[in-house]
Amino acid sequence: MTNGKLMVLTGPSGVGKGTLVRSLLQRHSQLHLSISVTTRSPRPGEVEGQHYYFVSRNQFSEMIAAGDFLEWAEFTGNFYGTPIAPVKQQIQQGKFVLLEIELEGARQIRNTFPEALRIFILPPSWDELERRLRSRGQDSEEAIARRLQRAKEEIDAAGEFDFQIINDDLAETLKRLESVLFIPG
Ligand code: ADP
Ligand code: 5GP
Repeated sequence: MTNGKLMVLTGPSGVGKGTLVRSLLQRHSQLHLSISVTTRSPRPGEVEGQHYYFVSRNQFSEMIAAGDFLEWAEFTGNFYGTPIAPVKQQIQQGKFVLLEIELEGARQIRNTFPEALRIFILPPSWDELERRLRSRGQDSEEAIARRLQRAKEEIDAAGEFDFQIINDDLAETLKRLESVLFIPG
């Protein structure tokens, strides 16, 4: 895995990672988003193979045992993992591969793939994070509460990352992200 580049985007749920990734993919054809495997149920509108590969817990366990994941973690009661084969293949082809993953997975990548560029997205304020999480309108109250609790731990670890970017104004954030992602070398 030498030619391409691995980039990791992490940040608390609701901070705007998905929104940023969608814009980045539209603007940069050299970027490839890794599609994760999850045991979470699909949200309305989520498409198999496009947003995630949705599997049962048994299937997920079998994939762990088979060594199919580059990293995996449990997040607020569900399992999430990055399939290793497509990432390897795309990096060998010289492509830029983006992982949008939570903190534990990002820590695993730091150990197994130290040359990966790791970016943490921060909210402008705690109140705004809560507002965004609710405005998405796709999670239950219980899921929102669990995600907010986890968000505190994630934000505390922001300093572990190569770059921290506050997602206040979306256009500004995109510019800053692009300047970090496309640093030569
Ligand atoms: P994540 O993928 O990090 O969980 P999303 O991309 O789903 O977050 O964004 C959560 C909500 O916040 C969405 O309703 C989205 O439109 C909104 N949002 C994202 N970025 C911004 C921003 N810079 N300013 C205001 N709202 C935003
Ligand atoms: P959501 O349920 O909102 O789609 O995702 C919940 C959290 O899981 C987010 O922080 C997201 O970045 C993270 N996530 C998504 N896919 C993966 C993955 O493959 N591995 C890890 N470790 N986290 C993931």
